[in-house]
Amino acid sequence: MNGWRKWPAWLLPCLALTCLAAQVAPFVVYHVPGPSAIAATSIPAWHPGGYDAADLARAHAFSRALLFGGMARSATWILAMLSLVACGVAAGFADSSKGRGQAWLVRVLLLVGLFLFLQLVELPYLVCRFFHFQAFGLTALTLAGWTKLMLVGSIVPLALFVLKYLLVVCSLPLFKRFWWIGACLCIFVLFEVVPEVASRRYPLDPVESLTPMGPGPHADSMKAVIDRAGLDLPLMVVDLGERVNTANIYIAGRHGREYVVVTDTFLRQFTPEEVTLALGHELAHVRNRFTLLAIHKTLSFLTLASGFFLAFMLTGRSALRISAAPRVVLVLMLSLALTSLVMQPLANSFYREQELQSDIRAVELAGDPAAYGRLLLKMAKLNLEPLDMPWWEKIFFSSYPSTTDRLAALKRRAG
Ligand SMILES: [Zn+2]
Repeated sequence: MNGWRKWPAWLLPCLALTCLAAQVAPFVVYHVPGPSAIAATSIPAWHPGGYDAADLARAHAFSRALLFGGMARSATWILAMLSLVACGVAAGFADSSKGRGQAWLVRVLLLVGLFLFLQLVELPYLVCRFFHFQAFGLTALTLAGWTKLMLVGSIVPLALFVLKYLLVVCSLPLFKRFWWIGACLCIFVLFEVVPEVASRRYPLDPVESLTPMGPGPHADSMKAVIDRAGLDLPLMVVDLGERVNTANIYIAGRHGREYVVVTDTFLRQFTPEEVTLALGHELAHVRNRFTLLAIHKTLSFLTLASGFFLAFMLTGRSALRISAAPRVVLVLMLSLALTSLVMQPLANSFYREQELQSDIRAVELAGDPAAYGRLLLKMAKLNLEPLDMPWWEKIFFSSYPSTTDRLAALKRRAG
């Protein structure tokens, strides 16, 4: 890593600060569109009704700010991490304590500090995103409510972050030269295999409440389509109405013990027939669950293993003393970020294909393609999704096909 020293010491932190400011810029440029912006937007003629120029202008402004702000957020994260490596902060911590207990305390505190630091460099994006959601009417939260949610919601990720990198630190003296293999396997088992056998889910925040769905026309038509698919899944409702206005339906729970989760906003905004169509799509994922799970885990393992291998190469391809732990953690985090960036297009293309397949199965299971097309447009309208996206956004950032691609696939299928 000596190459760093040839760079001016101020360059990386300056670039990181520039990206920090760039997180805010897209939210200033893309705000709620006024009448002139709506008038300048034209909608493709072949689209069925239910999604007009005003929807398109709103979805465009909403999604571009999130996309470009998110890109600046990732760039800040990488540059901030590179700055930490380059300025030798890790070496400074390495020899800072003598006693064993004290040394472990320093390592844990260092990991907590690193987690908080990385939250801090993303804060401009997160705050702007909250105000953006508020301006577009997608959240009912106040700034105080959102802050509380953020703080409470960070506790579990912080604990998991510390646990994950403590495993890496422990693997240095335990596995010697094979520290990267040992740590990689431990993390894969603990974070990818165990959650499939134990519970996969923890409450995201204190506001979320999951309750069994009561009887009614929605429950009746949902049960009918689950029966038709030859499955037996409990129906649960999650109460989101207090804080967001976006609507969603999905399957949760570990393999073999799945259940349907529908947001209260979804039940309010969609008819029983529409909910049935959307559920048909989710049930197609359940029918395919083993293949999906196997491919998902394989991709996770490949990303993890190549990240660890890269970190091993960058840290000198040898056994390391435990005093090297802070530097190893930083290099490993950067390596994992790089390998997930490389693997992302592959994972995205796989998930996009799965979505298109599930659309087709949903139509086969639950209804006619025209009604399904109208449902896709209604969901895009409510969740402020643009109808289409540029090719590079599809490849690098989207695990979902655009509404245009989904409608085109249905059209092709119908012949
Ligand atoms: Zn899906």
